[in-house]
Amino acid sequence: MELILINPPQPYLVEKHTQTPLGILYISAVVKRDRPDVDVSVCDLSDCSEPIEVPDADVYGYTSTSLDYPECVKLMETIRMEHPGSLHIIGGSHATAMPFSCRDDGFDSVFIRESEKTILEYIDDWMRVDTVEFYEADNLVDVCTLPWPDRDALGWTGGRILASGNDRSASLMASRGCPFNCAFCASALIWKRKMRWRSPENVVAEMKHCIEKYNVTTFRFADDSMTSNRDWVQEFCKAVEPLGVRWQTNERVDTVTIDLLKMMRDAGCVEIGYGVESFDPMVLKILGKKISPEQSIRAVEMTFKTNIGVWLLMMISTPGETYKHTVQCNSRALARLVGKFVRASCKTLMPLPGTPIWNDPERFGVEILNRDFSTYNAYPYKPGPNGRPKLILCRNDVSTGSFIRSHFTERNQVYP
Ligand code: SF4
Repeated sequence: MELILINPPQPYLVEKHTQTPLGILYISAVVKRDRPDVDVSVCDLSDCSEPIEVPDADVYGYTSTSLDYPECVKLMETIRMEHPGSLHIIGGSHATAMPFSCRDDGFDSVFIRESEKTILEYIDDWMRVDTVEFYEADNLVDVCTLPWPDRDALGWTGGRILASGNDRSASLMASRGCPFNCAFCASALIWKRKMRWRSPENVVAEMKHCIEKYNVTTFRFADDSMTSNRDWVQEFCKAVEPLGVRWQTNERVDTVTIDLLKMMRDAGCVEIGYGVESFDPMVLKILGKKISPEQSIRAVEMTFKTNIGVWLLMMISTPGETYKHTVQCNSRALARLVGKFVRASCKTLMPLPGTPIWNDPERFGVEILNRDFSTYNAYPYKPGPNGRPKLILCRNDVSTGSFIRSHFTERNQVYP
């Protein structure tokens, strides 16, 4: 079998090459290890704006988020026309959230949740000419038994990931999953709210491998929240410190302490992205974030004190916003924190497939006007019938309106 794994074009990305497509690199590594007769390769088209010729293969496997999906379908249709008789399979967060629509859009098989085990079942079925429409992972994979992502398959693309510096960087994951279930996030659907950890030694060995083989000097952890397991982080810090590398991670504000932050700084942590979302307690409550504005402020101040850069990740146009109160809350908090964060991003909340707000908008007091996410560069919903949330908020103050392009990354920008 010839299998090509494809990361589809992502025209909405402002910063290119910030993320390695770890999902398909894990699949490639598992296939090479466990089905060595399969000729597997990876095609990363995330940065492609022009059509390119994809080599001939028996099976094309796509990974896709909901935002990539319209491009992914177009690509699949083009490749199918150019390579008649080929099979087209899809996995990733969008396929997990909307498997039937993927099937209806023309994908021959759809992979639900993690695919490291089910891709092997698929290959065996293909050999017997007996593939089925849906491959759903019954159990979560044991992350300790996985090989490292097959970065060789990708070819080195480099990429700048941090606010400062142009180091050679690599993404990696030490854990999978998150125990929370925020209104705007599909993590719970994919990982079932369970966390699984690799050993600190195994993670550090992968980092050493990246340093020796690809001359990497900076790492970006793509985990949902490493610091939710403080014992693990302490062990990891001890193991990684001798490498002398820089690393960046995203965390919840309620999982860090000053001692842990100092340890992380000494071990090379140079930046932490905090999902503060909003400083309005009502918004945080409705989003199910289970943090308070005070916790966010404390985490930013502690992190600033330890000399680790802070990246604030915020969200506007959310359920629960009221113009006066939310603007006041955000303005006051950001004014207090000016100079203590190195960058901030703000995006408009999108009710994406697989998230609680997509599944049950009534519960959040909103009505989704448009479930066609190919148009999700536009404002997609309005206040619910009870009129409670006033959703169009701050939007014109901080962005030009589109979902991804609304990022603002200038140093210490605040709302007016
Ligand atoms: S937003 Fe963060 S904390 Fe909330 S469910 Fe997603 S990963 Fe977990």
